[in-house]
Amino acid sequence: MEYFDIMNTASLDVNLAFDQEIYNKFMQYKDMIKHWNEKINLTAIVEDEQIVKKHFIDCIKIFKCSPLKEAKNIIDIGTGAGFPGIPIKIIKSDINVVLLDSLNKRINFLNEVIDKIELKNISTIHGRAEDFSRKLDYREKSDVAVSRAVANLAVLSELCIPYVKVGGYFVAMKGPSVEEEIKDGKNAVSILGGKIEDIIEIEIEDSDLNHNLVVIKKVKETPKAYPRKAGTAMKKPLR
Ligand code: SAM
Repeated sequence: MEYFDIMNTASLDVNLAFDQEIYNKFMQYKDMIKHWNEKINLTAIVEDEQIVKKHFIDCIKIFKCSPLKEAKNIIDIGTGAGFPGIPIKIIKSDINVVLLDSLNKRINFLNEVIDKIELKNISTIHGRAEDFSRKLDYREKSDVAVSRAVANLAVLSELCIPYVKVGGYFVAMKGPSVEEEIKDGKNAVSILGGKIEDIIEIEIEDSDLNHNLVVIKKVKETPKAYPRKAGTAMKKPLR
């Protein structure tokens, strides 16, 4: 019960219910991260309290962004060890979640987590973000795309915005200073059919961490030319 209260407070802060069953799932997930991290590189954060604050609570706070609460299906691009997709699924089980990552070892880990903590309506994709958003089953099909710690906003927009339905949202979880990134990425967002609607500052309980959610609304279709071939967005970011 060590972290129950702090996680409960964080959940209340975003108006979501928290209970023992949800807490137990988070603790099982934490133990699996620590266990698998001995064999494969999942995260540099290995201490229990840090996992709870810097991963779990940080991800719960994405619900400060209201379109996420209304979303029926979301895709998490470059999910790694499952952030923010798995915490989103644990705390709000009625959202359909797709977790995508190009590293198969991490996808194997995520499949095991899904199985062990019995998460439903959640699936994984092993592949490059740029390849799957060209497929009809994925292109402009998600209510919301989310992503944390994958690339700067210009690059990330090309990886994520093509998945979002017109009228939906792309929510990028970013660090404390986003002004420069937004200045550099604004044009890319617009080329890809997005419009920056809001920047929401979030705080983590009992810590001096503060982050930003960049909330981008999809206002028109992504032109067929995007995303470019895998790797191109990173090498030549849209300006
Ligand atoms: N989102 C997680 C988090 O916040 O802890 C993981 C962040 S990790 C630094 C970046 C992840 O993005 C890695 O797991 C990597 O394999 C994945 N990634 C990077 N470029 C990608 C691409 N083009 N398509 C799919 N996954 C990608």
